[in-house]
Amino acid sequence: MDFSEIIIPGDTPGIVWRLPVIRFKGRDDAAPKVYLQAALHANELPGTALLHVLCERLRQADVEGAILGDITIVPQANPIGAAQSHFGELQGRFDLGSRTNFNRDFPLVALGERLSLTDDLDRYPAIEQLKRQLLHMALGADLVLDLHCDDESLQYAYVDEAFWPEAADLASALDMAVVFLADGESSAFEEAVGHAWKYERTEKATRLPGRLSVTLELRGTRDVYPDMARKDADGLWRFLCARGIVRGDMAIGPFKGPATPLDNIEMIRAPLSGAVLFHRDIGDTVVVGDLLATIITAPGREDGTIDIQAPQAGLITTRTSQRFARRGDNLMKIACSEKTKAARKPGTLEA
Ligand SMILES: [Zn+2]
Repeated sequence: MDFSEIIIPGDTPGIVWRLPVIRFKGRDDAAPKVYLQAALHANELPGTALLHVLCERLRQADVEGAILGDITIVPQANPIGAAQSHFGELQGRFDLGSRTNFNRDFPLVALGERLSLTDDLDRYPAIEQLKRQLLHMALGADLVLDLHCDDESLQYAYVDEAFWPEAADLASALDMAVVFLADGESSAFEEAVGHAWKYERTEKATRLPGRLSVTLELRGTRDVYPDMARKDADGLWRFLCARGIVRGDMAIGPFKGPATPLDNIEMIRAPLSGAVLFHRDIGDTVVVGDLLATIITAPGREDGTIDIQAPQAGLITTRTSQRFARRGDNLMKIACSEKTKAARKPGTLEA
């Protein structure tokens, strides 16, 4: 095992960021190379816990000579975000300086331009340097897993259609309740990796056999517990064995959950502001017309509430932890079998 730190100079005097990187060297050059990263959204820590447990096992495997493919691990990918405590609350999703989502605006380059990502880094602000360093490491691998979580949520993954159904082994190993199939058209980390591979040659590739870049949503922000971290590490271990990255005999059963295109996700929004009373929880399956939530728009008045019903049948995958909604706030994501009638732009579901 090799432990190192990437040093990123801050944008103001006296500030230096340190990005820890853990590397395990594989014994077999033909085995796939893996890149694992967690907490790019700095307040999403289930992946950090998973990788901590996984590293314990990999150290043991290293001693036993059982690591076949190179493994690079960045267990806490965003020191800049982790330092953003604002009025007592960690702001881990958006960079307060530039107001950009830490998981957007990754440089979209072709694989052949990989080395240029880290050329003349000094001309970039710290956050851009961080993104370039992360993408540079990821593009040295064949399999890239970016570990996130949602707010209140089931275990699910965003998978570019270019990697489906090959990625079903990962979904099954990690016990995903559902997979969201994406079009790959955004500047999120996972999609910047996919972009580089798709444009490796002049003709854009639509299938990328032997490669994988996914965003895993490891339940909700509060789901950081020893038993969950161990269960997830078990799942990831099975995947690493099955793909020949560590030696081990682990079978993965077929993925039983639905694979749902983003166009089939119903984003349940608050039509008006108020206190939210949920009638249904994550993991519930609903039918059209089921009562999902009541919003108290005018407390104490006879006509002071509105009810929100399910627009179609589906599986409630995520729910907000907030109990006060502004108009337009997203309350739930429901994975459905039909396309949503709501207008949706290409790219990610959320800002
Ligand atoms: Zn995230």
